[in-house]
Amino acid sequence: MAVRIIVGLVITAAAFAVAGRRLWWLYRLARAGQPAPERIAALREHPGRGAETQLTEVFGQRKLLRWSVPGVAHFLVFWGFVILFLTLIEAYGALFSRTFAIPVIGHWAFVGFLEDLVAVGVLIGLVTFAVIRLRHEPRREGRKSRFDGSHLGAAWLVLGMIFLVIATLLIYRGAQINTGVFPYPHGAFASQIVGHWLHPLGTGANDVIETVFILAQLGVVLGFLVIVVYSKHLHIFLAPLNVLFARRPSGLRGLEPMRSNGKVLDFEEADPDTDVFGRGKIEDAPWKSLLDMAACTECGRCQSQCPAWATGKPLSPKLLIMDQRDHALAKAPWLLAGSDEEREQLPDLVKAEAERPLVGDEKANGVIHPDVLWSCTNCGACVQECPVDIEHIDHITDMRRHQVLIESAFPAEASTMLKNLENKGDPWGMGESRRLDWAEGLDFEVPVVDGPIGDDVQYLFWVGCAGALEDRARKTTRAIAELLHTAGVSFAVLGPAETCTGDPARRMGNEFVFSMLAQQNIETLNEAGARTIVASCPHCFNTIANEYPQLGGNYEVIHHTQLLARLVAEGKLTPVNPVNEKITYHDPCFLGRHNKVFTPPREIMEKVPGVQAQEMHRCKNRGFCCGAGGARMWMEERIGKRINTERIDEALGTDPDTISTGCPYCMVMLGDAVSAKKSSGEAKETLEVIDVAQVLARSVRRPEAPAAAAAPEPEPAAD
Ligand code: SF4
Ligand code: SF4
Repeated sequence: MAVRIIVGLVITAAAFAVAGRRLWWLYRLARAGQPAPERIAALREHPGRGAETQLTEVFGQRKLLRWSVPGVAHFLVFWGFVILFLTLIEAYGALFSRTFAIPVIGHWAFVGFLEDLVAVGVLIGLVTFAVIRLRHEPRREGRKSRFDGSHLGAAWLVLGMIFLVIATLLIYRGAQINTGVFPYPHGAFASQIVGHWLHPLGTGANDVIETVFILAQLGVVLGFLVIVVYSKHLHIFLAPLNVLFARRPSGLRGLEPMRSNGKVLDFEEADPDTDVFGRGKIEDAPWKSLLDMAACTECGRCQSQCPAWATGKPLSPKLLIMDQRDHALAKAPWLLAGSDEEREQLPDLVKAEAERPLVGDEKANGVIHPDVLWSCTNCGACVQECPVDIEHIDHITDMRRHQVLIESAFPAEASTMLKNLENKGDPWGMGESRRLDWAEGLDFEVPVVDGPIGDDVQYLFWVGCAGALEDRARKTTRAIAELLHTAGVSFAVLGPAETCTGDPARRMGNEFVFSMLAQQNIETLNEAGARTIVASCPHCFNTIANEYPQLGGNYEVIHHTQLLARLVAEGKLTPVNPVNEKITYHDPCFLGRHNKVFTPPREIMEKVPGVQAQEMHRCKNRGFCCGAGGARMWMEERIGKRINTERIDEALGTDPDTISTGCPYCMVMLGDAVSAKKSSGEAKETLEVIDVAQVLARSVRRPEAPAAAAAPEPEPAAD
């Protein structure tokens, strides 16, 4: 027994010392990042939400289980380790007393059974993981594997360690059965099988096996602990923390305001010497972003869903996180050094790492290549898929902010859009005088807000720059206005008083232009007393609903498909004319994935007689981007396959007559791809890309003029 106690305690102390030192070092590294007091404040404000996400995401493995086979395997291993904690108590107890049993439950057959059941479950999980890894071996699949770029050797090592944890456990338990000290009389079926195999060796040999394998079990568990804190498997400890401090309801929807030293940056008072403008160095990242980096499991779920990666761009959300993490770890001695003298003493490799720019091309030896940074469409697929709630878009936006505001380094073609926003209030530079052109020729008057909106106006129709100024989107705007008019819904528009919401500027990283435009709009909306806004563009919808509250603009915002679906359901709009077409619906990322509006557009099409709705393979939460978000609409797409072409290739697979959507940006991108396909003869000449509102408008019979008296009168707008 003395040997057991001494060896057991010595290896425990050694492992805890090594792991503790590493964890303290990592904690200090996280503290080298920017403060993020809003994360702590959110948790204090909503403690129940924190508890709920721990229950659903950590213990319930909600996001992991979306991927059924690997999800179940992970579930088995996770719960295996939680329950096998009991066996660890038993192993430590056995150091001091061979007949040790956990108080109260330590002899219950059910507990013995449960321990063995989860041990077998973990083995099944391991085999599943091994098969998945072999099947998705990057060298077999080329760059399409989700594991491409992950540390595969470390993953195999950890699978091996977990196997050893279970193997040593079952062997010492089997030996305990043969030496008569096993605490469970029945139930531990797997241990009994192993005991049966060991029985012929005799009691003496089983005595030795019992001691050796109890120590081996502790040694493997402690070795595993050390490997975990020195590897990507740190996520075992850090994923629950990352989930706890993640933005809620998710890192999708709105962007975070730009913060410096933990406070929202006020451009009027900002000091270039002391304030941080986005992420120019790794230490400009808030600690939550550093936690993201350490929590990444390298599972590649994000990578597998990224439209940029899928079309051959250099951006992989996984590698973006891993590259920053590797840089942070390599630069850590420099960050943690107490003085310039100490930094001088550091190895050249560390000094060279410290000098690397965070964003820079091959020549500059940057950590993140500009092509990586500017490939992102902000589609949110990575954030949606990440099982540990990493907020990739926040990382990208932070770096873009520094590039735009400090370095003035961004794709040159986007500068026209930014200038137009500043000078004319819309990306095309057409100006406020053109904002009502879309309404010309309508057979009713569109009321324009001029002063406070009256109580008789139900909705402020936010037309958006594209809806007002882009030819294809104008057709949607007219269809919406006609439908609202037909349904007898009173609405008004801002007309020339409306300006860009600032979304393209913010997604580019130009927070300055965004706040200028947003403040102007909020002033206009507040003066008008806007209450309920209906937006036809998901980008406007997202910005007004989720980002304007950061600047004091609080409104109820709905998308036009939500309103139209409601009007159809209430019988205020009745689709009667058959639209005998096969239609496939493309989910706009900022409507669907970001804001979870999936059903209303589909409900509308269901109600239109003759429509044969055909889903694409990638739809709803797993929808595939059109390539326009994240201000990509204003940048050239020079690398890889065009994202809109990839999407149209998928749409063509359903042999549609029409492709419908609910976003003017998507309509432009998909429309362009369809035109190219028509030119090459790959798409039929009659194929159209239109908004769901246009599909509905084709089916809704407008009241004939003589019957107008019977039709509901449009209510007058306030003026
Ligand atoms: S937001 Fe979309 S494009 Fe950007 S990294 Fe994530 S998945 Fe890729
Ligand atoms: S960022 Fe999330 S989804 Fe992507 S590899 Fe890391 S853990 Fe997996």
